[in-house]
This record gives sequence, C-alpha cells and structure tokens, in this order.
Amino acid sequence: MNDSLFFATFDPLYVNAPDACSLCIAQPPAFTYEYCIEQNDGQRHYIKGFCCTSCSAGLLQKLARREAQEWAQEEAELEAGEMDVTDLQKRRLATFGNVPAR
Ligand SMILES: [Zn+2]
Repeated sequence: MNDSLFFATFDPLYVNAPDACSLCIAQPPAFTYEYCIEQNDGQRHYIKGFCCTSCSAGLLQKLARREAQEWAQEEAELEAGEMDVTDLQKRRLATFGNVPAR
C-alpha cells in the first residue's frame, strides 16, 4: 500500500476557497490537499479539501503514522516466519521513532 499526500497553494483572487479549513473549521485555509489512501485491495480512496498550515502538519503526521504501522506489521509478519528483523526494526525506529499503534 502506498498512500500519498499532495499540497498546493491557491490564489484567493481566482479560487473560490472556503473561509475555513475543511479539517478544523477554525483557521483560514492556506493549501488545497489531496490525501490518497491505498486500500488492501489496491483501490485508492481520495480525500480532498482546503486546509490550514497547522492541519497540513497534522496530515503529514497521519501519513507517517500509517506508514510506520505498515512497516511494523510487515516486520511482525516476517518475524512470525522466523526471519531476523533486527535491521528492519532499527530502520523503522530510526525513521519514525516508536510510534504507538492506534
Ligand atoms: Zn485546520
């Protein structure tokens, strides 16, 4: 599964942007975003909207958390097959830290 996240700026003179971020409904939006979640069957689910700078950081963290969970899951599957996952685990922890599972 490969999720993706794109941000783009917009020109408020030419784009009819909402007054508030689609996620927190509090701050004015700074970007448009497109979050693509690839599901187990390969289907892609797109979430699009306008978001503020603070929520854009939140979306990136969400992407990182999902990826960390996926790496941990792959690691667990390999470990169950009696493979040495020491290097993989080291890499995951160096990349994402110890992200708690949801
Ligand atoms: Zn927001």
